[in-house]
Amino acid sequence: MAESDNLKPHAIFIPYPLQGHVIPSVELAIKLASRGFKITFVNTQSIHHHTSKAQPKTGGNLFAAAREAGQDIDYTTVSDGLPVEFDRSLNHDQFMASLLHVFSAHVDELVGKLVKSSVNTAPVTCLIADTFFVWPGKVAKKYDLLYVSFWTEPALVYSLYFHVDLLRKNGHFACHDVREDDINYIPGVKSIDPSDMMSYLQDANVTTVCHQIIFNAFKDVRESHYVLCNTVEEIESETITPLHAKIPFYAIGPLFPNRFNKSIVATSLWSESDRSQWLNTKPQGSVLYVSFGSYAHVSKRDLIEIADGLELSKVNFVWVLRPDIVSSEDTDPLPSGFKERTSDRGIIIQWCCQKSVLAHPAIGGFLTHCGWNSTLESIWCSVPLLCFPLLTDQFTNRKLIVDDWKVGTNLCDWKVVKKEVVSNKINHLMDVKSGDEFRKAVAKVRKTMENALKPNGSSEQNIDTFIKDLKAGMRK
Ligand code: UDP
Repeated sequence: MAESDNLKPHAIFIPYPLQGHVIPSVELAIKLASRGFKITFVNTQSIHHHTSKAQPKTGGNLFAAAREAGQDIDYTTVSDGLPVEFDRSLNHDQFMASLLHVFSAHVDELVGKLVKSSVNTAPVTCLIADTFFVWPGKVAKKYDLLYVSFWTEPALVYSLYFHVDLLRKNGHFACHDVREDDINYIPGVKSIDPSDMMSYLQDANVTTVCHQIIFNAFKDVRESHYVLCNTVEEIESETITPLHAKIPFYAIGPLFPNRFNKSIVATSLWSESDRSQWLNTKPQGSVLYVSFGSYAHVSKRDLIEIADGLELSKVNFVWVLRPDIVSSEDTDPLPSGFKERTSDRGIIIQWCCQKSVLAHPAIGGFLTHCGWNSTLESIWCSVPLLCFPLLTDQFTNRKLIVDDWKVGTNLCDWKVVKKEVVSNKINHLMDVKSGDEFRKAVAKVRKTMENALKPNGSSEQNIDTFIKDLKAGMRK
């Protein structure tokens, strides 16, 4: 047995403090712990507060059940620089500015303490942190740790950000007369319309706090020793192959709990409404699930057109409508009387266990903002998607869903949202005949994902290779 096989890596794992990043991070932590890692998982105090409030049974340690199941996971929290009760949704830019400027000082202090206190027991060997942080490379270097960057979005999105200087040089980003023709010079990205890039790469103003985060994060990631990506090699192989030449990049997704809809660790920031009884009464494939994720906002105008279109379509639906979907200051944005007029065939809830809903046989389609987790979960459940991207990577994810894999269709083909179009699109997707092409395509991609998670599948092999490479790195 090689000496490295005896080494037990101890990783401090810091997820980005947003719902869509915490969920796959928790699953990755569990996966690594079940392969022999010791993990110290660090949530921000705000994430901890919301999660434990939403699920009071979890008590102080969100990972208690994982520990009881024999996994070596410690859990602690750190301040993101803002008071716990601060409304991060309403004050988004202030929240992001705190993550950009203040968070690293808190992390640095905590990592220092953890490194010191673990020296004689289980020395910390690596830092696993979200690629969007601007500090992991520097913090890891300071404490002599290996830096594992965790990318929670598709490889295509990673590659576009990674090559932002090339986009700038070629006039597709951050210049006066920005080019509108296809981008065909990025290694591994065959050809992409600029309107399919992430919203931040389409903005005219590139001086916002989010742009500073992206520029700094993608400078910092060049200091990383390994990049783990929540995607599947086979569905993005063209993009991934050239990345290998630049950075040790491992496709290890989709990251789901062992029992798809039952994670051992609570992750929801809001309490989950269980409508399985209602779904049990509906015919197979007859219900449209509607959700725009945890973070994006929808304009009031678009929300009303979508509601009116949903009403016109006559399909059954479960709609997750966060109270801040338009704004924390407008918590009841639906057209008046909508709930009453649709109460015989639709339910509106604030949050649910999305994986359980998608896995229910009554669900036949997903009207989605194209968040990456939602995309992976929907495909895993063989549910075709109706795409309404709103910001960030969602435009690029839409391209993968509709143009590349053909597992879904657009809600409004880039035109203004109109209720008649919404209604037609919903019916087209949900119809037994017209929706069949999407159902067939989604079953195929599902199979590819399933294979990737088999013992000899690409994701399982990639994670084995990563662990081997990391252990080799630990010995240097
Ligand atoms: N989610 C959930 N319940 C809901 C809505 C969403 O559990 O009612 C979960 C969903 O399963 C997914 C995550 O929240 O794992 C949202 O991540 P995604 O990347 O799709 O979108 P984001 O919220 O980051 O925009």
